[in-house]
Amino acid sequence: MKIPALDMKAQLAPIRKDIDQAIARVLDHGGFILGKEVEKFEKDICLYSGSKYSIGVSNGTDAITLALEALGIKRGDRVLCPAFTYYATVGAVASIGAIPVFIDIDPKTYCIDPESVKLYLRQTPKAIIPAHLYGQCADMDSILAIADKFDLKVIEDTAQAFGAEYKNKKAGTIGDCGTVSFFPGKNLGACGDAGMILVRDESVADILRQLRNQGTAPSNKYKHIYPGHNNRLDSIQAAILVVKLKYMDIWNRKRAENAVYYNGQLAALELITPYVPDANTHIYHQYMVRAKNNKSRDSIMNHLNEKGIDSRVFYPIPLHLQPCFSYLGYRKGNFPESEKAAQEIFSLPVYPELTHEQMDYVVKSIKEVL
Ligand SMILES: *Cc1c(COP(=O)(O)O)cnc(C)c1O
Repeated sequence: MKIPALDMKAQLAPIRKDIDQAIARVLDHGGFILGKEVEKFEKDICLYSGSKYSIGVSNGTDAITLALEALGIKRGDRVLCPAFTYYATVGAVASIGAIPVFIDIDPKTYCIDPESVKLYLRQTPKAIIPAHLYGQCADMDSILAIADKFDLKVIEDTAQAFGAEYKNKKAGTIGDCGTVSFFPGKNLGACGDAGMILVRDESVADILRQLRNQGTAPSNKYKHIYPGHNNRLDSIQAAILVVKLKYMDIWNRKRAENAVYYNGQLAALELITPYVPDANTHIYHQYMVRAKNNKSRDSIMNHLNEKGIDSRVFYPIPLHLQPCFSYLGYRKGNFPESEKAAQEIFSLPVYPELTHEQMDYVVKSIKEVL
């Protein structure tokens, strides 16, 4: 049996007519950049998440870069980042010339560990970017307490967790800014690149609206107050996302049901299934399990792949050991929990359209090795 990591065709099929009509409407009116679809999507995102302001942008990476700039982070400023996340969390920091300062993760949630943050505060960082990895939030109360005390801006990288909640607040609405990605493979995916910044403060939102559009002043198209960028969101992507947002909670719930099913089936095996603190609801962008060591991880994954099951490692190399960040001077051993996670975790397909029969096949295949 072939079980992919994600089944885009199965997701689109039931809503295909609505998507086609949404695209056709944009083709008919011919306004392809920003415009009324983007405004509608921004409004819908505010209604859904409770965010005060939402600014549609080109993708989830640019969302982080723009948020950093709008919050006043400059070249040479230090920004605390998890050592274990997708590259873009940290790439965005480096791209504006700011200095990533890595922090180890909590080995249970795989998110940035607030206790470890305390070791780095003497370097006078200006911001912190908790990444809500795999679909659940970092320990935000602890992070906000530190941020308050040490005057750090908080940017929640919500690329993998849009729709997840922390103490009944939507991920991305807890810090100064929340950045969302609608890359096709995320839980809410466009048919191309797209992103969003959730913002609490009106003045930051005003700056972001200018920064994403060449720094164009609201009153005069050819006056540029901020040195901005072209990070605009397309109308077609926004129109598609307006349709898909209506289904996101249903899809996320299905993922969570699949995760519960796996948890039950895998409970007796020598695997660690996802840990969800009481404060969190998890939307299972990825369902990650942890094997006892590197060797057993690789033998399980090899077997799954032979059986046609698309299991992957998110992510095999922690950021402090990436060649592109060697100039920062970190070494192997600096962040043991991040390094251990990179060696021991792997994903099981958890997408909403999975059937019990498919999940039983995944479980059976794992049991064949363990
Ligand atoms: C996907 C992702 C991003 C980047 O989003 P893009 O839209 O692909 O630029 C950033 N951070 C994390 C944690 C991600 O998973």
